[in-house]
Amino acid sequence: MSRRKKYFIKESAKISFDLKHRKTIRFNIGRYLTAVERGKTQFAKYQEAREIANGIKNEVLSNFSDTLNQFEKNFTANGGQIIYAATKEEAVTEILKIAKAEKVKTIVKSKSITTEELRLNEVLEEEGYKNYETDLGEFIVQVAGEKPYHIVTPAMHKSKEDIAELFTEKFDTPENSSPEYITNFVREFLRKEFQQADLGISGANFLVADKGAISITENEGNALLSTSFPKVHIAIAGIEKLLPRMTDLGLLLPLLATNGTGQLISAYNTMIFGPRRNDEMDGPEKVFLILLDNGRTELYNKKYLNLSLACIRCGACLNVCPIYQNIGGYTYETPYTGPIGSIISPHYEGFEEFNHLSFASTLCGKCAEVCPVKIPLTDLLLYNRDLAVRTTKTDKAWDIGINMMTNYLLSREKLDRFSGSFKNIFAQSLLKNRLGKKKSFPRFAKRSFSSSVKRKENVK
Ligand code: SF4
Repeated sequence: MSRRKKYFIKESAKISFDLKHRKTIRFNIGRYLTAVERGKTQFAKYQEAREIANGIKNEVLSNFSDTLNQFEKNFTANGGQIIYAATKEEAVTEILKIAKAEKVKTIVKSKSITTEELRLNEVLEEEGYKNYETDLGEFIVQVAGEKPYHIVTPAMHKSKEDIAELFTEKFDTPENSSPEYITNFVREFLRKEFQQADLGISGANFLVADKGAISITENEGNALLSTSFPKVHIAIAGIEKLLPRMTDLGLLLPLLATNGTGQLISAYNTMIFGPRRNDEMDGPEKVFLILLDNGRTELYNKKYLNLSLACIRCGACLNVCPIYQNIGGYTYETPYTGPIGSIISPHYEGFEEFNHLSFASTLCGKCAEVCPVKIPLTDLLLYNRDLAVRTTKTDKAWDIGINMMTNYLLSREKLDRFSGSFKNIFAQSLLKNRLGKKKSFPRFAKRSFSSSVKRKENVK
């Protein structure tokens, strides 16, 4: 069993029984679910909206090279510079190269899960840059020395009391400070850094091919400041973020906002067409876009599994997933978590090491039911499982056990050859360690149902 899988099993068993964690997550997800229902009322025909969104993303998948070429041509004509990075290492090298050439000292970053894929914060800190996450949730987890817990709400695992305590410890703020006090404190703190920063780093929600523009949607204005104050802006995006037309945003931005946070639309929506033009007063002098592959082309070439590239990172599938709700965001050890993370992470982080995530699902189907772009998530989990069984080393002891069990479970006669006590000893010894300390395997009756019936018949 791989180290990652062992960790996953051990950590899942621990965190599932952490009642404080469960209470915080249930509270935050409960509020989210109520808000989403409100948000959906903006669509006269919500299911039709999902169909259309699915059509738009599938249009990109079926014309991928043309859409990418069109985006590149228009973005470059607007003055932006595109750098293709085949791996995360290449992307990091390019970012460091730009930072060095531009003599950067201070960096402001807006929320980007793609930069988590690069482990960019760790690298920038090791290289000695002053690097600030500027989204409030991201800032909180950065101050705590943690990673984002969730792709949309990075500090979802923390209660307001946890955050107040953290800020008192790190910034000497008054004990039990309110969320409003902390928000104002962070706003003041970061304002100075926005003014001093030489480099802004962002992600991209969408790359609009017909205009060559980057679309960023957010609620705090920090992405707008990160991409307009510093003289250099680097955006990092997976190549799958393409949309054919600007008009597609009319559907996808509200759909993302509704499913991400329950809003009608996010508070700030920025379109970046390239660097500052001569007649513009502000904006960066240089805009770079790093287009990251890191396994995406390989995934694109896999039948059915390539549908996962349609994801718009709304987080809805995580929030409804019974596994995510119980084991939380850190157990996965990957930036992308929940159902979509269990599908794509093995392809981005290493299939051999991470394919166990695809087995971490009850296949209840709730994720596919809520996905705004209609990705058949449960089917894709099964395709990953199939791939794992066919292509990777399997756990021999487990395979032998399952084969034996299948053989016996398919034959009533074979099963009845053993007494209930024997079956109990066998099942307990085989499954005890697999189920963990908190769960037990149901006990077999002393005599099986069929042998009891037979005995009764004989009596007659
Ligand atoms: S798979 Fe669907 S529900 Fe999950 S994050 Fe992506 S778009 Fe949202």
